[in-house]
Amino acid sequence: MENTTLKHVDHDEHEEEIPDSFCCCVCLDLFYKPIVLSCGYMCCFWCIHKSMSGVRESKCPTCRHQYYHFPTVCQLLHFLLLKLYPVAYNRRTNQTLALH
Ligand SMILES: [Zn+2]
Ligand SMILES: [Zn+2]
Repeated sequence: MENTTLKHVDHDEHEEEIPDSFCCCVCLDLFYKPIVLSCGYMCCFWCIHKSMSGVRESKCPTCRHQYYHFPTVCQLLHFLLLKLYPVAYNRRTNQTLALH
């Protein structure tokens, strides 16, 4: 008899369904490290980071509203999304780590 411990690792964990309001307009995926712009729209930190220009003023990718301050990650939203959609959020974490 083999004495192996049965480890239940579920690789096929079903990803949560993400409502539109939690999808970034740039990458069309769940917000990752969400930031809130002065116009009220949200975006992923890295999506904004990529769309920013060092020379010209930056614009919101949704409504083109200008903003002058580098946006900071909304920690509350970050933890909320992580709690609500752990599977999708962890996938986003891995994706982002692979890219940066
Ligand atoms: Zn995004
Ligand atoms: Zn905007």
